[in-house]
Amino acid sequence: MRDPRYDVLFEPVPIGPVIARNRFFQVPHCNGMGHRHPSSLAEMRGVKAEGGWAVVCTEEVEIHHTSALDGAVEGRLWDDMDIPAHRLTVERVHAHGSLAGIELVHSGLNAPNTYSRVPAIGPSVRPVTSGTPSVGREMTLADIANLREWHRAAVRRSLEAGYDVVYVYAAHGLTIFQQFLSPRFNARTDEYGGTLENRVRLLREVLDDTLELCAGRAAVACRIIVDELLGVDGQGRAVGLGRSEMEDVFGLIGELPDLWDLMVGEWDFDSSTSRFEQEGYSEPFVHGFKQLTTKPVVIVGRYTSPDTMVRLVNQGITDFIGAARPSIADPFLPNKIAEGRAEDIRECIGCNICVSGDWMSVPIRCTQNSSMGEEWRRGWHPERIAPKPVDGGDTKVLIIGAGPAGLEAAMWLGRRGYEVVLTEASRTLGGRVVQEAALPGLAEWGRVRDHRVLQLEKMDTVLVTLESPMTAEEIVEYDFTHVAVATGATWRADGVGRFHASGVFGGAMTPDDLLAGQRPAGNRVVVYDDELFYIGGVLAELLAGEGFQVTIVTPESKVSAWTVNTMEQHKIHRRLVAAGVAILTDTAVLGHEGDVARLACTYTGREHSLACDAVVSVTFREPHAPLVGQLQSLGLQYVQAIGDAYNPGTIAEAVHSGRLYAESLHAPDLAVGATPFRREIIGLAGR
Ligand code: ADP
Ligand code: SF4
Repeated sequence: MRDPRYDVLFEPVPIGPVIARNRFFQVPHCNGMGHRHPSSLAEMRGVKAEGGWAVVCTEEVEIHHTSALDGAVEGRLWDDMDIPAHRLTVERVHAHGSLAGIELVHSGLNAPNTYSRVPAIGPSVRPVTSGTPSVGREMTLADIANLREWHRAAVRRSLEAGYDVVYVYAAHGLTIFQQFLSPRFNARTDEYGGTLENRVRLLREVLDDTLELCAGRAAVACRIIVDELLGVDGQGRAVGLGRSEMEDVFGLIGELPDLWDLMVGEWDFDSSTSRFEQEGYSEPFVHGFKQLTTKPVVIVGRYTSPDTMVRLVNQGITDFIGAARPSIADPFLPNKIAEGRAEDIRECIGCNICVSGDWMSVPIRCTQNSSMGEEWRRGWHPERIAPKPVDGGDTKVLIIGAGPAGLEAAMWLGRRGYEVVLTEASRTLGGRVVQEAALPGLAEWGRVRDHRVLQLEKMDTVLVTLESPMTAEEIVEYDFTHVAVATGATWRADGVGRFHASGVFGGAMTPDDLLAGQRPAGNRVVVYDDELFYIGGVLAELLAGEGFQVTIVTPESKVSAWTVNTMEQHKIHRRLVAAGVAILTDTAVLGHEGDVARLACTYTGREHSLACDAVVSVTFREPHAPLVGQLQSLGLQYVQAIGDAYNPGTIAEAVHSGRLYAESLHAPDLAVGATPFRREIIGLAGR
């Protein structure tokens, strides 16, 4: 039964001519599937609707070939050929009683157009802001009229596809309407530049166009930046759009759209990781905007707490609880609150692995939700799994190691009805996430453990044992038919990795040592990061916070280089500098002798030295699964390594591996060489 405290979240809310059945609103979010994987995309959106989100939106959808975001895979609605794919998404969303929203975009100066090979366009001649060293063309009045017509055509196509909410998009620093609004891009001297009234003109005209076409058939939403967060330049001049100017924009067009979707800064702020921002971090910026309009408002802030959501509504900060990441981590978040099961919410941990899918142009994935991106191609569901087959009756599964992989495998196998024993050598469940959650800024990562442990506690099919380091000889004494070895991985200490092919350190420390509580003997520490994700930077931050004099050295040209994909790299650099960590990029550590580390430039090989008492070697982890071979040699047939014990990777990969193991038990064997998931192939034109 629903807790009456949360009733307000389930009130229907009108948006212009349509009615949202509750206040849960999946705002537009990228997913790396876009126009390339339409069936995967439609199924993913459908699952959100099934989980109770009253409005389910697309990602940004290009309206025209002058707004081609290739490099990324976004939505596309250039012409009628694109309509059927959108109809598929709308059908899947409508099938569960939700409203389908489409976020139309013209990216203007943000469009590299590397596929369409036409110049980018914008309010003024300015460099293209992504993907190409080209310069965008200043739009003539005829271009502006054309842009309005392209947008109108996209609105007509959206209506034909069946969308209920059509967005005019002026946010994230990514769209032409924001570029016209912002003095950062708009230096025009005609009626579209200069005064605020002039800069807002195009947005007003396009809103008018969209309202006229939607006329009672669909609502018109406007996603708007409320503060570009750019501050002032060296001369004290405002660089971009600030809050007070945006309040004036609301004074001019505040009543125009049917809904305002408020956002702040650029995408890296809008989707800040938990290492840098907590739940609700954008609230101070959006606060008060709802009072500038009578139209409903939606905000985001990685909200997963229903009590906070109720407060936001009751305090008049928002009408809708907007979510991208919380809806990715748990598509069933609204239903769980509705059913009085808020404790079952799989809370987003704020790691931005989902975002990395978009940056890498591959289908979205999620650390917490192993089914994300796999709904259509593998048939996985965030809440359900096929029961064990009738002939699987005497199957008994032992899972060794209760890290993310072991926990996930046990949870899903338990749900399938298998008899499972999950055994863990240490005193705590959670494996690496328990240790890593204790590092600076990573506390929320503990949610990976918490959710699964809670679910396991509710099951009577899974027996969990702690402080039980199992040997192969012990295991074969029992009657397990299947054994999954989820015993994790071990950091190498010798410096071998991407840069060094053979060992260079004798007595270096590793992340495992630091996570286990050991510390360097002296004060001057070099963290050698050839792994390139977060751990090297976090450990440098940890040691600096404890008073060590830290230098982080990396062969890459950026510190924590892979974190560009989680939109954290620049924040990590800034934080390390603030913590007093010295940063040496394009540099390898060649060795450490006495109190000197030998370094070399990775371009020239030129060597230099650095006074150093200890080196922490952060290169890669090796699978730790001796049990697999031992059990096989003792005659056990069904034994398999999963997670890091199979191939070390991100926590998301370990969770996925656990799910895959659970899904695969008693699944029909695949033919040798067969692709283990469905693919969608582009039809050949005119053949
Ligand atoms: P993954 O990310 O693949 O889940 P982790 O390293 O997070 O891997 O977790 C591995 C877990 O396995 C750790 O909690 C570790 O204590 C446990 N473990 C390692 N060896 C054994 C063993 N022989 N018996 C039981 N548990 C083990
Ligand atoms: Fe949240 Fe991480 Fe999942 Fe993204 S990948 S939704 S940030 S848990």
